Amino acid sequence: MIAGELSSASNRALMFALGNLVKGTVLSEANFEVSVREAREKCRACSREFRLAPPFFCCPACGKPASSIEEGRKVYIDYYEGE
Ligand SMILES: [Zn+2]
Repeated sequence: MIAGELSSASNRALMFALGNLVKGTVLSEANFEVSVREAREKCRACSREFRLAPPFFCCPACGKPASSIEEGRKVYIDYYEGE
């Protein structure tokens, strides 16, 4: 599972929720891993890609404020393995 660093989802809370979600199911013995994906932005003014480092959300090249966050806001399952 991937948790964006701006998603407000902590690893600990996700692991707790997943553990409770699968109790009593065929997934009760499953192992879960949560990785944090850093927040990234592509500046619309100068096209530079950079990491968003709160609390500063401005392009380090031209100083324009971030207008769209490319990565780092979502929580999603990126893969699973099973038999
Ligand atoms: Zn820029």
